[in-house]
Amino acid sequence: MKKININAPSRNYDVFIGNNVINKYSSKINSLAGYNDSIIIVDSNVYRLHKEKIESMIKGLKGNVVVYKFKADEKNKSLDSLKKIFDLMLRKNLGRSSFLIALGGGITGDLGGFAASVYARGIGYIHIPTTLLAMVDSAIGGKTGINYGHTKNIIGSFYQPESVLIDTEFIKTLPRDELLCGLGEVIKYGLLIGDDFFDYVAKNYRKAFDYNYSFLNKVIRESVSLKGSIVEKDENEKSGLRKILNLGHTFAHAIEVEQNHKIKHGQAVIAGIACALHLSNKLGMMNDEYLEKYLSLIIEFRNEIKLKQYNPETLYKIMFRDKKNKKGSINFVLLEKAGKLIIDAEADKRDALYAINNGL
Ligand code: NAD
Ligand code: ZN
Repeated sequence: MKKININAPSRNYDVFIGNNVINKYSSKINSLAGYNDSIIIVDSNVYRLHKEKIESMIKGLKGNVVVYKFKADEKNKSLDSLKKIFDLMLRKNLGRSSFLIALGGGITGDLGGFAASVYARGIGYIHIPTTLLAMVDSAIGGKTGINYGHTKNIIGSFYQPESVLIDTEFIKTLPRDELLCGLGEVIKYGLLIGDDFFDYVAKNYRKAFDYNYSFLNKVIRESVSLKGSIVEKDENEKSGLRKILNLGHTFAHAIEVEQNHKIKHGQAVIAGIACALHLSNKLGMMNDEYLEKYLSLIIEFRNEIKLKQYNPETLYKIMFRDKKNKKGSINFVLLEKAGKLIIDAEADKRDALYAINNGL
C-alpha cells in the first residue's frame, strides 16, 4: 500500500493506493472522515459488479449507513440527482455530523463531492474512485460539479475530500473502453511530467489492457503525485499553474458537446490532445520532431475512438462561446515539449480550425 499526502491550502489529506484498500481500512473510514453516520453515493453498475466487496466495506462502517444507488451517466450528473440525494439525507436525519462516500467513476465523484460541499454548508467526504480515469485524475484535487442545460460542470465547487481510497481491485472489471479513457488522462500526465514518463507510458501502455498491476500502480502513483503537487500550489486555479491540467481539454469539452455527449470524456481528451499538439506546432512552439513523436502514441489511441461526423465550425463556436478572451481569441494550454508547458497561448480562428482539422 502506498500513501501520498496532499497538503492543499484548504485541507491536508492522504490518498491511499493499493489492492483491497477499502476492505483493509473499512474500520478506519469513520475516523478518516471524523464522523459516524454516512451516506454512500454509489454507481449502480459498480455496486452490481462488486456487491460482496462493497457490502463487506459497509459492514466495517460505524453508525447509520444510507446507500444511494444511481445510474452513472452525464444526464444524471444533475440538479435532479442532487435533489434526490438531499431528500434522502433529510429523510434519514443526516445532519452536519455525517459524511459522504462517493464510490464510482468521475461522474459519481463529481456529483457526490458537490453534494457534500453544499449540504449543511459542507460535510466531509471520502472518494473511492473505481475507474482508471477517476483514480489518476478526477478523484484528486477537489473539483466537484454537475452539468446544467447543455453546459458541462457549470455548477460546482472546489472542495477537498477528507481522504481518497484508491482500491485498485476495482480496475479488474473495467472494460477496454474505460481503460482507454483513463490512459487518455495518463498520456496527458506524460506530456505534463516529461519525456521519461511519456516514454514509459508509450512503451508499456498495452499492459493496462492485461490488467498489469505493476504498470497500473506506477501510472496511478505518478499521476496522483503530480496532480497533488499542482493542487498544493494552486488549489483554485488562481495563479494559472493548475491550468496546465487542462491540456487538450478546451478541445475535448467542445468535442463532448458537439458529439452530444455520445463520446466519453477520456476519449475526447485523447482527441483534444491531438488538436493541442497540432496547434502547438502550427504556432511554432513545438518542432516537427516532437510533434511526430507524441502523435505516434496518440494516433494508436485515436484509431480506437469512433467520432461521429463532426463539424469543425460548430466545434469552434462551442470553444469560442465557452473560452473566448477579451481580445476575441481563445487561450489554450500548449507545449514546447513534454514538461514544458505554455499557459494562455492565444490562437485565432484560423489556427484553431487548422488544429481541429488535423487533430480529428
Ligand atoms: P463514469 O463515472 O461515467 O464511469 C464510466 C463507466 O464505467 C460507467 O458506465 C460506470 O458505470 C463504469 N464503471 C465505473 N467503475 C467501474 C468498474 N470498476 N468496473 C466496471 N465498470 C465501471 O466516468 P469516468 O470516465 O470515470 O469520469 C468521467 C467524468 O469525470 C466526467 O463527468 C468528467 O467531467 C469528470 N471529470 C472530473 C474531473 C475533476 O477534476 N473533477 C476530472 C476529469 C473528469
Ligand atoms: Zn479530463
